[in-house]
Formats: sequence, C-alpha cells, structure tokens
Amino acid sequence: MKNETNIKDIVVYVELENQELSQLSLQLISKANELTKVTGGEVSACLVSHQKVALPSLPECLAELKIFQLIQPRFFIANHYAQLIIAYLQETQPLLVLVGSTPIGKAMAPIIAVAFKTGLTADCTDLLIENQTIVQVRPAYGGNVLAEIVTKTTPKVCTIREHAFSENLVFTKSVTKKISYEVLNLETNVELLYQKPIKKAEKQQSRIKIIVGKGVKKKADLELIEKLSKKINGEILCSRGLVERGWFTPESQVGLSGKSLQGDIVITLGVSGSVQFCSGIKNCSCVIAVNNDPNARIFSVATYSFCSDLYEVVESFMKN
Ligand SMILES: Cc1cc2nc3c(=O)[nH]c(=O)nc-3n(C[C@H](O)[C@H](O)[C@H](O)COP(=O)(O)OP(=O)(O)OC[C@H]3O[C@@H](n4cnc5c(N)ncnc54)[C@H](O)[C@@H]3O)c2cc1C
Repeated sequence: MKNETNIKDIVVYVELENQELSQLSLQLISKANELTKVTGGEVSACLVSHQKVALPSLPECLAELKIFQLIQPRFFIANHYAQLIIAYLQETQPLLVLVGSTPIGKAMAPIIAVAFKTGLTADCTDLLIENQTIVQVRPAYGGNVLAEIVTKTTPKVCTIREHAFSENLVFTKSVTKKISYEVLNLETNVELLYQKPIKKAEKQQSRIKIIVGKGVKKKADLELIEKLSKKINGEILCSRGLVERGWFTPESQVGLSGKSLQGDIVITLGVSGSVQFCSGIKNCSCVIAVNNDPNARIFSVATYSFCSDLYEVVESFMKN
C-alpha cells in the first residue's frame, strides 16, 4: 500500500484512432508529463480494445501502457470498461486520473469516481499545480467565469476536452517492454441486436476555417459563403446561433459546447464573439473578424478586425 504522501503518479485513459493513440490521448499524456515534472511521479496509460493492438511507437515519458483486450463482449459497455480501469487504478494508486471528454470517457468517468468515492471534474480546460495541490480549471456559469476546483480526495478524476492542451511529446521506437497486455472474456447479459452505422465526418485537412454567425441573414446566403470557402479552400463552421436556427448540425459548432480549434486561421463572419464562442478559438493562430458593429466583442480577440457588412466584404473578395 502506498503512503498517502507518496501518491504522485498520473494515469491517463487513452483511446485509439486507426491503431494509433488518438490526438486527444496524446494531449492528455503531454499534460500529465508536464504535471509529473512537479509531482515527481510517473505517467502510465491504460486502454480497452476489442482487437489486438500493435502500437508502433509510444511517448517516451510513458512508464507503462496497460492494454485490456476484451474478446467478449465485442461492444462497449461502460460498466465493463470502468471495472477494468478501476482494477488498474487500485493497482497503481495514482494521484490523478485523466479521461478524454469522448462518449466513452464521459460514460466511464463517473463510474470510476463513484467506485473511489472521489470527486469528478468534467470538461476541464486546464490543470495547474498550486501549493503542491492539483487545481482543475473549468468554465462555470455559462462560461462567464473560470472555476478553480480542488478535489480533496484521491484519486482526483477529471475529463478533458480535445485541444485543451497541446501534444508536445517525444516518441521512442522500441517500446515493447512498456506494453503490458491482458486478454479477457467478460460475462454479460446484454445482447447486441443491431448497430446503427455512424457516418463519420470527413476529416478536413484545411487549416482555414470560415465561421459564420447570426449576422448571415438567410440560409440561401450560405451559397455565397460556400463559394468563398471553395476559393480559399476553407472549411465552413458556425456559431451556436446557426445550429439553433437548424442550418448546421452540432458537429459544426465552435465554442464551449462545440469544438475547440487549435492553430487554425479563422475568419468569422457575423459572429458577435460571446465568451462561450471565443473559448473555442482561443488557441487559433490568426483570427480575422468581420462584423458591422464597432463594439462587437469579437474584435477584442481578433488579429485583424473589419468593421463592415459581411456581404460587402465577401463579395468584394470574390471579385478580386
Ligand atoms: C452554456 C452555454 C454554452 C454555449 N456554447 C456556445 C458555443 O459553443 N458556441 C457558440 O457560438 N455559442 C455558444 N453559446 C451561445 C452564445 O452565448 C451566443 O448566444 C452565440 O455565440 C451567439 O451567436 P452569434 O455570434 O452567431 O450571434 P449574435 O450574438 O446574434 O451575433 C451576430 C453578430 O452579427 C453581426 N452582424 C449582423 N449583421 C451583420 C452583417 N450584415 N455584417 C457583419 N456583421 C453582422 C452583429 O453585429 C452581431 O455581432 C453558449 C451559451 C451558453 C449559455
């Protein structure tokens, strides 16, 4: 049993994308690595998979990757996944458990927290160490304040959204000694009758995002924005206002309750720049804002501000 003062390690629950650690998983490992430089502990990771995993390379900072390969059942059951992670956490006794805010992560994290009678902080945007204590930062009151939450019990469990952290990692080639494998058959009284195929959004390569807001008057006007996006090879995204109008699906929404962008060049057209919206573009390399209100909040975060009618700006751009 570890002495309470020796609890320094961090465990990251990771997920795979095409047999590689997902970007979000790498971002969590990177942050865990940064934190353990202060706590003095190690970073380990665990994952649950339904097929044999062959990872080519792992981040150098990872002390271990524990893989649970589930032969049966061959589909996700939150309780099964959580029980495996709980067993691993009982063995490793970490200070902190980081879980990505993915559908799997969000279903599992509360079960893990309940098992340890500990606190769970959902959708953290940052993690700090102050006076030897882990401080979990997350937006509160509709994103108008950033709450700093300290969980007094151990392990501290938190879920993290994609792009909250960058992935600053060094990878090693020879890693077999770091991977420990366990193959399992679990009993279940759940039978999978039908699985609805999910249409995966096509991965956009473009670093230019055109984000449209409620300043666009009619749905038909989006044709003009599409012409612009073809001309500059950009991807069209939107504010929540246009999801609420039913013009876009939630997958296209940028912001606190939508997606966060990182490193991209962003052009906002008719977006006011609410706190909730701006939290999704805070890590963009360049923000070009077009709004006809000189007092629009978006201008306070923009790299280049155009106080103009968006239709005039887009049309004159298309002519040139
Ligand atoms: C808990 C919570 C979570 C939220 N999460 C999100 C989120 O993830 N993403 C998000 O976007 N919002 C989110 N919101 C909603 C957010 O508060 C705003 O309501 C929303 O961002 C407003 O969208 P908008 O900027 O498109 O619309 P508006 O605020 O209505 O702004 C439209 C802008 O267009 C400008 N405009 C009008 N006509 C023109 C023209 N012809 N040319 C140029 N400019 C023009 C206006 O000056 C105005 O500034 C959230 C709210 C809450 C409470």
